[in-house]
Amino acid sequence: MNITDTTAGRGLEALRAAIAGRVFVPGEAGYDQARRAWNLAVDQRPAVVVEAGSAADVARAVRFARAHGMRIAPQGTGHGAGPLEPLVGAMLLRTTRLRTVRIDPAARTARAEAGAVWQDVTVPAAQHGLAALAGSSTTVGVTGYTLGGGLGWLARRYGLAANSVTAAELVTPGGDLIRADADHQSDLFWAVRGGGGIGVVTALEMRLYPVGELYAGSLFFPIARAAEVLHAWRAWTGTVPDEVTSQGRLVRLPPAPQLPEPLRGRAFVKVEAAYLGDAGTGAELTGPLRRLGPELDTFAAIPPPALAQLHMDPGQPVPFQGAGPFLSDFPAAAIDALAGLAGPDADTLLASVEVGHLGGALARPAPGGGAQPSIDANYLLTAVGAAPAPGLAAAARAQAHAVKDALGPWHAGYDYYNFAETPAPASAVLPPASYRRLQKIKAACDPDQMIISTHPVRPARP
Ligand SMILES: Cc1cc2nc3c(=O)[nH]c(=O)nc-3n(C[C@H](O)[C@H](O)[C@H](O)COP(=O)(O)OP(=O)(O)OC[C@H]3O[C@@H](n4cnc5c(N)ncnc54)[C@H](O)[C@@H]3O)c2cc1C
Repeated sequence: MNITDTTAGRGLEALRAAIAGRVFVPGEAGYDQARRAWNLAVDQRPAVVVEAGSAADVARAVRFARAHGMRIAPQGTGHGAGPLEPLVGAMLLRTTRLRTVRIDPAARTARAEAGAVWQDVTVPAAQHGLAALAGSSTTVGVTGYTLGGGLGWLARRYGLAANSVTAAELVTPGGDLIRADADHQSDLFWAVRGGGGIGVVTALEMRLYPVGELYAGSLFFPIARAAEVLHAWRAWTGTVPDEVTSQGRLVRLPPAPQLPEPLRGRAFVKVEAAYLGDAGTGAELTGPLRRLGPELDTFAAIPPPALAQLHMDPGQPVPFQGAGPFLSDFPAAAIDALAGLAGPDADTLLASVEVGHLGGALARPAPGGGAQPSIDANYLLTAVGAAPAPGLAAAARAQAHAVKDALGPWHAGYDYYNFAETPAPASAVLPPASYRRLQKIKAACDPDQMIISTHPVRPARP
């Protein structure tokens, strides 16, 4: 749709005048900044970008889009823009300006507007001794992360972030602002908790958890020891309680000046872990790995917001490609295959290949849980390729997928919603029963597929 002509253009001027936020069309100053995703490998070119300034703006924008036959892609930061279909003719509805967060220390809950990023929640929550189920990065959006499940450093103890959501405020594809919780709009409440975007979320409420002591850090070893350390880590994961969440990881760090000198531009095999408990017990639990003789040991007692330093995610937008299959197991043969493709001898664009330990609370159906009630897999493989130049994107994607393919014999049947970085239907990233229920919900509330979700759901046939 060429938005600058006809009735849509005139309607757009009316929308511009009516909302507190901003509207951009191609060619206007600000359009390029407004359409930019955090993942710089994605060049999204929507017909119009609306930066909502309030929940009422979101509703007005949705009604405008419906009236003019446009589809809508809701987006916060654009960390998850990789799998999105092209936005030609669509509205990119950005929530980046909606970042208000309220903590209720007595109820141990947070209410985060849709554009909030994790540090907006974790920092004020920690002032009350509380932790949110945030992931590895401060800048990832609370909403996109949670709608796709949300696997963080407390996951084996408290499960997916989606299953700690107590309410969602959202604008339906029909343009109504509603609240979905355990007593209202049960289908939509179920769907937003792990099933992706079914409407446009304007705020989420979630449980927070009291965290007294937390012991976390990384053990760095030269990448030449990749296979040895991954074998030891894999054996160790069979011994730890649910209070320990960890990853075994092959990482190639850039020669960035902000990195400490001993790490700059080097490749490592690492174990990253967080233990919900005291430092003495944490040191005992991590003892078997420490006895391997790491080159660097950063374990310490930390406050919950400092968990965001553990994974050393980039603080600024970067171009990347990736893949994220769930694994039923990570046995010796899988470790050797992984070390062959991304270990010391690999000439690779893969900046990080990591295997996360699942199980614990993740394996048990969350009481009253949503579209990802539990994870039927024991490990999660994530391969992330840096694509510093557009010409390298295809190679980085191919290398990430080559690692996924090599570990195909242990694929648990579906990928992790939040780490499937290439276009894939929701059936490829959710349990089959959840996908079927989502299809029915989609048929009832968005039969025209007006909402563009990271991983699309095809409405069930009547
Ligand atoms: C550096 C980095 C670290 C990460 N760490 C983790 C991690 O530790 N654990 C983990 O589970 N994941 C992690 N992820 C993956 C991340 O959770 C996904 O990329 C997620 O989609 C990001 O959410 P966002 O809101 O920031 O991104 P966006 O791209 O803004 O949103 C992603 C999708 O969510 C939906 N969405 C967003 N906002 C709305 C809304 N208001 N209404 C309806 N739908 C909406 C849309 O479908 C949108 O396309 C990480 C990603 C990166 C790049």
